[in-house]
Amino acid sequence: MSATRTDDSYDARVAQILAELGIPAAYGVDRHMPSYAEARDLVSVGMDIYGRDRQLTPHAAGRWTELRVAAHRDGIALLLVSAFRSLEYQRKIFERKIRAGESLEHILKVNAPPGYSEHHTGRAVDLTTPGCPPLAEEFETSAAFAWLVRHAHRLGFAMTYPRENRFGIAYEPWHWAVQE
Ligand SMILES: [Zn+2]
Repeated sequence: MSATRTDDSYDARVAQILAELGIPAAYGVDRHMPSYAEARDLVSVGMDIYGRDRQLTPHAAGRWTELRVAAHRDGIALLLVSAFRSLEYQRKIFERKIRAGESLEHILKVNAPPGYSEHHTGRAVDLTTPGCPPLAEEFETSAAFAWLVRHAHRLGFAMTYPRENRFGIAYEPWHWAVQE
């Protein structure tokens, strides 16, 4: 995976947000995490499971539709939990968790900080299926996950954070991204 090129002003914004959240400036280097630019060209892909309108890049939106239709054809329902997220959105996730008393160390195990979330690219989706709690590891025991492992790569998707990934991010069987 290659880091998406970012410009100086974007890097400065990311650095400022990290400082405000108390995250070391060397986070990306230390964790081998690529930084990601925010996608500019986005289209709606409909509602997520919470009824929020979600967006992806036009290319990823097309891929997501193909994935969903192919799964449906095989009797699998794929539901959207999250898609594009801006720097500000990612910052709010951190602020909410910090306010709720979670330690930064714990948050960073399950959330990439602003600037380092693959959701900024508009190519990543978090998925679930009926009867499965969202963003839970037990998604890996679902028929939907087994289907994804078998078919998603054919439609251009890959799991970004498998078990024991080199970024030190918790295993995320629900997080899939369209490869460039
Ligand atoms: Zn995700």
